[in-house]
Amino acid sequence: MPVIIDTEKCGKIENCPGEGLCIKLCEEDALIEEDGDVVIISENCNDCELCIMNCPNQAISKVD
Ligand code: SF4
Ligand code: SF4
Repeated sequence: MPVIIDTEKCGKIENCPGEGLCIKLCEEDALIEEDGDVVIISENCNDCELCIMNCPNQAISKVD
C-alpha cells in the first residue's frame, strides 16, 4: 500500500525542516517535487516506510 502525504502538515518543500528530506531518502524515486510540493508516484513505492519514519512534520502515513 503506498503512502499518502498530508499537504497541510507538509507545507511547501521550501518550508520543510529537512528541505524535502523524504525526497532525498526515497530510494525508489517514488517521491518527487512538483511545483514546490511533494508528489507520490504510487507505483514506485515499495512500502519501506523510510519517509514515514523520518518526516519531521509527521506528514506521511499509510493508507489504511
Ligand atoms: S519530509 Fe515531510 S515535511 Fe519534508 S517535504 Fe517530505 S513530507 Fe514534507
Ligand atoms: S515508503 Fe519508501 S519507497 Fe515508498 S515513498 Fe516512502 S521512502 Fe519511498
